[in-house]
Amino acid sequence: MVGDTGAVRSLEDRLKAQAYGMGYDLVGIAPLGEPATRSHFDAWLEAGYHGTMGYLDGEGAELRRDTRRPHPGATHAIVLGTSYGGREPSGPVARYARGEDYHEVLRAKGRELLAWLEAEVGVLVEGRPYVDSGPVLERDLAQRAGLGWFGKNTLLISPRVGSFTFLSALFVRYPLVADTPFEADRCGSCTRCLDACPTQAFTGPRVLDATRCLSYLTIEYREAIPEGLRSAMGSWLYGCDVCQEVCPWNQKFSQALADGSPFGARELFREADAEALATHILQLAPEAYSRAFRGSAMKRAKLRGLKRNAAVVLGNVGTRAAVEPLTRAMQDDDGMVREHAAWALGQLVRTFR
Ligand code: SF4
Repeated sequence: MVGDTGAVRSLEDRLKAQAYGMGYDLVGIAPLGEPATRSHFDAWLEAGYHGTMGYLDGEGAELRRDTRRPHPGATHAIVLGTSYGGREPSGPVARYARGEDYHEVLRAKGRELLAWLEAEVGVLVEGRPYVDSGPVLERDLAQRAGLGWFGKNTLLISPRVGSFTFLSALFVRYPLVADTPFEADRCGSCTRCLDACPTQAFTGPRVLDATRCLSYLTIEYREAIPEGLRSAMGSWLYGCDVCQEVCPWNQKFSQALADGSPFGARELFREADAEALATHILQLAPEAYSRAFRGSAMKRAKLRGLKRNAAVVLGNVGTRAAVEPLTRAMQDDDGMVREHAAWALGQLVRTFR
């Protein structure tokens, strides 16, 4: 294939041009094998910092200890980054979850890229897209593919677009030329993310105790939010972006959402402030919830989890208007929701005194 300058363009260059043309913000190629951060991952599991996320342990951990295991026969990963709106306003829902479910959107895009590759090389290429849900340490792969470094906030930081990016990977069985890993650590002496975390969930640089992290507590965790951490939730109803918002690399390089991006905020999140949104969610009936959140990543927390979070948010930032919906939530069928509503009413009473 000959480029504009007359030079022959490699398959890898054409592949990257195709991916950028499809709207990806980052593209790199990594060989599969044992992750460089394997011992770090093992120590994190050993410390129990994964909490109730049992899928990360046992068989899930075995698969994550070598990227050749999830899809036997695959040789390389095409690692892809997609910005999801680092320039959008903060809270009460983490930016990544405001639009369409990224799993579906990016899996479909990964399959499209695989079809392009097959057409380009003229043979069937065995491959599979992974979008966060597979047993793969994506950040490790992304570093290996030259996309950025493992920041002290435990996220992959790209020097071009920061960290407000979805990472996905297309595993293929095809002899591609891999990129050079990103070796530098550009966090330097900065500790902003560690200092700003509302629940002090970092036990040190690059070590996150997920059991204290608001993203875990408001999304993955199915039980009562520990009382000692509820006030620290502030107005975060689903997830938390604080350790990304304070990062200078994001402040400088995060990208605006492209026009028509599927990750733009749904109507529900566009205008509503934290109190209005929490009030709305606390009063949602199951059918209305299913309609409002169809195709949304936020369904992961389930309605009872969202109501639990909404009650805490109202307890933290609610006005007198929050008393009525919280009082009604005291009649909810779910004991966990009732208990959080009672806590929130107690907080409000203290505030109004
Ligand atoms: Fe690294 Fe500072 Fe960004 Fe944290 S805030 S990830 S320490 S550059």
